[in-house]
Amino acid sequence: MRYIEPHGHMVSRTTDDYLAMVTAGCAAVCEPAFWAGYDRRSAEGFFDYFSQLTDYEPRRAAKFGLPHFSWLCLNPKESEDLQLAEDVLALIPEFIDRPNVLGIGEIGLNKNTRNELKILERHIDLAASHEQLILVHTPHLEDKLKGTRLIIDALLNDKRIDPGRVIIDHVEEHTAQLVLDQGFWAGITLYPESKCTPPRAVDMLEMHGTERIWLNCACDWGVSDPLAVPKTAIEMRRRGRDAEFIDQVLYQNPHQFLSQSPKFTL
Ligand SMILES: [Zn+2]
Repeated sequence: MRYIEPHGHMVSRTTDDYLAMVTAGCAAVCEPAFWAGYDRRSAEGFFDYFSQLTDYEPRRAAKFGLPHFSWLCLNPKESEDLQLAEDVLALIPEFIDRPNVLGIGEIGLNKNTRNELKILERHIDLAASHEQLILVHTPHLEDKLKGTRLIIDALLNDKRIDPGRVIIDHVEEHTAQLVLDQGFWAGITLYPESKCTPPRAVDMLEMHGTERIWLNCACDWGVSDPLAVPKTAIEMRRRGRDAEFIDQVLYQNPHQFLSQSPKFTL
């Protein structure tokens, strides 16, 4: 079996995780920028993090023969300090041309606040003006449906944005169709304590089909499973799905979306 992990926060994982992923058939891992588990206090802290995502982490992954790609942004959680957010946004262009950077992400909303929305629009503008792919985080503690609607509106308001170049992640049963109907890609996140389990993910694939959908584990510093994506293949097989179906969802779909960036070559 081969698969792509399109959303893993590898800076918080061990080398054992890299080894396990490669052993399970991982062909590439993509790492969106995210919250560190604490608030970074200065733009310099983000400069160091972006350097880690674009320099050190790809070299760490390469020790296991695993291609590593990244996405850059300020997490929605970090948007409340508008001055800090502007300082960080100003840093991103100097990292965009690095060889493993695929786009802007994971941007989006956390508590659906006014400041979060403002910084979301700034990120969308940054992606549009640099012709970057976009990876979106939808809220999972606050109102996901409302947050997803606000995000979709913000994206569609910018006429330069092609929905086929945007993946809206952490969709659930009540938001998947909304995302797909507007032409966006949808990401289903497999997480042990919140978000989605493998049976629910396969239910959603059976309801919505496999077009423009990918699975990811979003493994980070919390309780999460870097092997959640390949493990979902077991649930697919249990329901009688063949190897082509599994390859389509776990490898071909993320490959198709990510290949819209000329930097994504395996
Ligand atoms: Zn994430």
